[in-house]
Amino acid sequence: AAALEAVCADAEAWASCNGLLMRSADDASAFEHAPFALLPARFPAEQLAHAAELAPTFGLLVDKIVDDLPWLMATLREAADSDPFTKRLMKLCERVQREGESQKARLAGLRSDYMLHEPDGGAEPPRLLQVELNTIAASFASLSNRVSALHAYLAARWPAVRRQLWDDAGRPSRLKLDGVLPSNPSVEKIAEAIARAHGVYGSRDAAVLFVVQPSERNALDQELLRQQLWAAHGLRVISRTLGQLAVEAKLAGNERRLTLGGAEVSVVYFRAGYTPDDYPSAKEWSTRLLLERSHAIKCPSVAQHLAGCKKVQQQLAVPGELERFLPPADCEKLRSVFAGQWSLAGPAEPADDAPAEEHAAALHMRRAIEAPDGYVMKPQREGGGHNFFGQELADALKSLSREQRAAFTLMQRIFPRAQESVLVRRGRPTAGPALSELGLYSTFVRAPSGRVLLNSPAGHLVRTKLHGVNEGGVAAGFAVLSSPLAAKR
Ligand code: ADP
Ligand code: MG
Repeated sequence: AAALEAVCADAEAWASCNGLLMRSADDASAFEHAPFALLPARFPAEQLAHAAELAPTFGLLVDKIVDDLPWLMATLREAADSDPFTKRLMKLCERVQREGESQKARLAGLRSDYMLHEPDGGAEPPRLLQVELNTIAASFASLSNRVSALHAYLAARWPAVRRQLWDDAGRPSRLKLDGVLPSNPSVEKIAEAIARAHGVYGSRDAAVLFVVQPSERNALDQELLRQQLWAAHGLRVISRTLGQLAVEAKLAGNERRLTLGGAEVSVVYFRAGYTPDDYPSAKEWSTRLLLERSHAIKCPSVAQHLAGCKKVQQQLAVPGELERFLPPADCEKLRSVFAGQWSLAGPAEPADDAPAEEHAAALHMRRAIEAPDGYVMKPQREGGGHNFFGQELADALKSLSREQRAAFTLMQRIFPRAQESVLVRRGRPTAGPALSELGLYSTFVRAPSGRVLLNSPAGHLVRTKLHGVNEGGVAAGFAVLSSPLAAKR
C-alpha cells in the first residue's frame, strides 16, 4: 500500500513534468494530469503485431471508399434520412463534388480501435475485434506517447511496478510485467505525415491549420503535436475554431487557396467538426464548406470523414461489399477482425424471398430484444456516450419506428477479459478489474498523381475502463489512458 501511494505520487509528478495533462474540468485556465492507468494492459504480442499489420490495409480501404462516392452516398442515404447531421455532411460533400474538388492530394490520420474478444474467461482463443475506425479527430496520439513513456519510466524506477506488489490496499494484481513495452512513436509519425502532405502541397511558407473546439479540455494533446511539427519540421501551426475561421478564412484565386489574414494554409487538420455541437449556427457550416472547397489538403476531407461512419463499417461487413474495394487476401485479413453487425433499417419480419442479410438482421433484432447484453446499438455519432447497452437497448429497439431505427446499427458485443488495474484520476488511485481497448494509429498520404506516398502504422493507444462500465471515452470520463504490454502467451 505504501508502495502504491509512492508510485502514484511519482507518476503524477512525472505526468506534470512531461505533458501528460488535460485542462481542468473546473477551471479552464488550469491543467491537471490526464487520467491514466498506473500499469500497462497486457495484450498478446502477436495480436499487437496483427493490429499494426492491418493498419495500412484500412488506410487503403478508406482511400478506395473515397474514390467511390456513389457507393458511400448510397450506403449512408437511408440512415441519413433520420439523422440531419450526417445528411448535412453528405450535402456538403456533394456540393464540393459538383463544383470539382480543388484539393489534389490526400492525407489521412486514422485510428482503428479494437478489443480482444475473449468470452467465457478464455474458453475460445482470443480474437481482436474492431470497435470502430476513426477517420476524423483521432485524438490522444500525443498523450498516448506520453503514457507509454510514463509506463517505461515507472517500470524502470519501481521494482514494485515490475513485480506488481500492492496486495492489501491496492489489490492488483496477478499479472506480471513480463512483456515488452513497445515503443510508441505516434506523435512523431502523425507530424511526419502532416509534414509530408505540406511538402506535396508545395508552398514552403504556408502554415498548417488546426481546427479546434472552443473549449477543448484535451488541448495539450494538440499542443504536443504542434510543438513536434515545429521542432522536427519547422512548420507553423495556426489553431482556430470554426467560429473564428468564419471571420478570418478566405479563398484566393482560381484554385481557391485558403488564406488566414494573409497567410496561406497548406494542411487543415480537423480536431473539431465531428459533432453537431461544433456547428451552433449556419456560419460554422458555411465555414466547413469554405474549407472543403479550398485547395488546402484536409485531414480529413468531408468524404474521408463520412467514410468513418458506423453505417459504413456495418455495410462493409455485408458479404461482397468489402470485396468491391480490396483484393481477396486483404478482405480476408480485415474480415478476421470484423465483429457481427446488422442494419436496423429493414423490416422486423422480412418477406420469405427477402435477401439473407435482411433475415439475419431481423433475427438479431429479435435476439437483441430478448438478450440485449450480447449487443451494442450505435447511432451515427463520434466522441463517446451515445451508444445503447442492456435494457436501454432492448427498450429502444421495441419503441423506435422503422425509420428511427434506420439511423442506428446493431453490433455484436465484444467481451474482453478483465485485468486487474489501477486507474488514477486527480492523483487518486482506484483499483479493480478493468477492460482495455487498443487503438492503432495510421497515416496515409496520396500524391495528386494518385500514387500512395505514405501508408503505415503510427503508434498506439490503450484506453482502460473499470469492468461494468459500458462506454469508453477518456474525455467523456469513462476511461483512462494506458499503454500495451506486449506479452508472450
Ligand atoms: P465513439 O465514436 O463514440 O467512440 P465507439 O464505437 O467507439 O463510439 O463506442 C464507444 C465505446 O463503447 C467504445 O469505446 C467501447 O467501450 C464501447 N463499445 C462500442 N462498441 C462495442 C462493442 N461492439 N462491444 C463492446 N463494447 C463496445
Ligand atoms: Mg470510439
